Amino acid sequence: MAKDIGHLIGGKRAAGTSGAFGPIFDPATGEESGRVAMGGPDEVAAAVEAARAAQPAWADTSIVRRARVMFRFKELIEKNMDELAKLVTSEHGKTIDDAKGSITRGLEVVEFACGIPQLLKGEFSHNVGTGVDLLSVRHPVGIAAGITPFNFPAMIPLWMAPLAIACGNAFILKPSEKDPSCPMLLAELLQEAGAPAGIIQVVNGGKDAVNAILAHPGIAAVSFVGATATAEHIYRTGTMAGKRVQALGGAKNHMVIMPDADLDMAVDALMGAAYGSAGERCMAVSVAVPVGDATADALIEKLAPKVRQLKIGPGTEAGVEMGPLVTREHLDKVRSYVDLGIEEGAKLVVDGRDFRMQGYENGFFIGGCLFDGVTEDMRIAREEIFGPVLSVVRKPDYKSAVKIINDHEYGNGTAIFTRDGDAARAFANEVEIGMVGVNVPIPVPMAFHSFGGWKRSLFGDHHTHGMEGVRFYTKQKAITTRWPTGIRAGAEFKMPTMG
Ligand code: NAD
Repeated sequence: MAKDIGHLIGGKRAAGTSGAFGPIFDPATGEESGRVAMGGPDEVAAAVEAARAAQPAWADTSIVRRARVMFRFKELIEKNMDELAKLVTSEHGKTIDDAKGSITRGLEVVEFACGIPQLLKGEFSHNVGTGVDLLSVRHPVGIAAGITPFNFPAMIPLWMAPLAIACGNAFILKPSEKDPSCPMLLAELLQEAGAPAGIIQVVNGGKDAVNAILAHPGIAAVSFVGATATAEHIYRTGTMAGKRVQALGGAKNHMVIMPDADLDMAVDALMGAAYGSAGERCMAVSVAVPVGDATADALIEKLAPKVRQLKIGPGTEAGVEMGPLVTREHLDKVRSYVDLGIEEGAKLVVDGRDFRMQGYENGFFIGGCLFDGVTEDMRIAREEIFGPVLSVVRKPDYKSAVKIINDHEYGNGTAIFTRDGDAARAFANEVEIGMVGVNVPIPVPMAFHSFGGWKRSLFGDHHTHGMEGVRFYTKQKAITTRWPTGIRAGAEFKMPTMG
C-alpha cells in the first residue's frame, strides 16, 4: 500500500499546508512506493514556533535526565533495528546488512551522547586572582537544524540530532526527500525515548524547506551534509544570515597501492570500498592509484574477475553484495559517466552498463564498472560519480601518487596500502585530506572522534560528532566571580589584571 510521509511538528505527525508531494521509489522494483510532503516556509515557521516553546525548559532539564533520554533512545534503536534497516533498504536500495552497519555507526553517536554530563563539564580555575574564580561553561545555541543527504538516511541524522539535543537544543531535521521514512521513525523513537514535543521535529521537503530554514531568524545553527554545490550555497546563505554553519560536501577518494602492499588485502579492500553501497558513499574509493606498472597490472588482473562476479540484486535478498542505485535519474547519470570515460580515452575493463536484474527489470540496477588507463585530467577522475565505477590511475612513484591527491579539489578521505611504515607515515603527514587510512580503505572516524574533510569537502570550522559536535552545538560563556570577603582592590581605571 502506498504511504504518505508528512512532517513531525510540535510532537505530532502533520500533513503540512503546502499541498505538494514528491514521489518515493523502491529502487529494486522501480515502482513508486509512496509520497513525501514537500514543506516550505509555513512548516518551518510552525516547527520553529514549537521549538521556541519547548527549548528553554529542555535546556533547564538536568543534564542526567537529558542523558537518560539518550540511553532510552539507544535501546529503542536496538529494538527497532530490523524495521529501521528495512526502511533504509526499501527507499535507498543498499543491502540490509549494509543498512544495519550504517545504523550502528549512527547508534555509536547516541552512545557518545549518553556521556553528555562528562562532555559538558566545562573548565574551572580556582584563584585566578586572590579570591577570584573563573568558570567556562557551554550553553546550547538554541534551535539547530540538520539537512541530510539520501545516501545515509539513518546514520547522518544520527551524527547530528543526538548531540544537538543532549546539549540542550531543539533540533529540526530536514531529511532527503528520496528516503524520508527511516529518519521519520528515528525522530518518533527519540520522542518515545523522552525528548519533549518540539525538541525533535522533522520538516520534509526539498529546496523550499531548506531555503526557509536558512532564512528563518529563529534557527541559530545549521548542519548540512550533501553535494559540494549545495554545501557551498548553504554555507554562504546561512552564514550571511548570521547562523553558525557546518556544511559537509562531496568527495573523490583515492587509494594508493604501493608495490610492497599485500595485494589480496588491497583488492578485497577496493571491492568493498568502491562497490559497497553501489558506490553511493562519500567515503567510497573511486580512484585506485597503483604505483608502478607491475603493481597496476597485477591489481587489474585480480580485480577485474571479482568485479564481474559481484552478486547484484535487491538489498533484501540474502547474499547480495550490491543493490540498485537510488533513482532512475541517478542511474542515467552514472551510465553517462561511463560513456564519458570511454569518450575521454580510458579503457573500460569491466562494463556494467547493460546489467539487467531478472525479475526486477525496472529496478535501478547497474553492474560494477572498472576503468584502466585513466588520467587525472579526465572528468571521470575529477568529478564525483557516486556509483559503482572505479578508475585506475597509474603512477610511476609515490610522489606523483600523492600529488594527484593533493591537487584534487576535494579532501574527504584517502588511504594507502603498504607494508612500509616510513611511506605510511609520510603519506599520513603529507596528504591534504581530512580522514586518512593506512591499510584501512574507508577510514570513517568513530563517534568519539570527529568526521570531516578538507578543501571543498567541508565548509565551516567544525567537523561533525565527537568533541567538534559538542562545540558546534554549544556556545561558551566565561564567568569570573569574586565575593565580598575577597580582597578588595578599590576602583581600577587601568585594564584590570590579576595576581
Ligand atoms: P544533495 O546536495 O543533492 O542533497 C542534500 C540535501 O540538500 C537534501 O536534503 C536536499 O533536499 C537538499 N538540497 C538539494 N539541492 C538543494 C538546493 N539546490 N538548495 C537547497 N537544498 C538542496 O545531496 P544528495 O544527492 O542527497 O547526497 C549525495 C551527496 O552527498 C554526494 O555528493 C556525497 O558525497 C555527499 N555526502 C557527503 C558526506 C560527507 O560527510 N562529506 C556524507 C554523505 C554524503
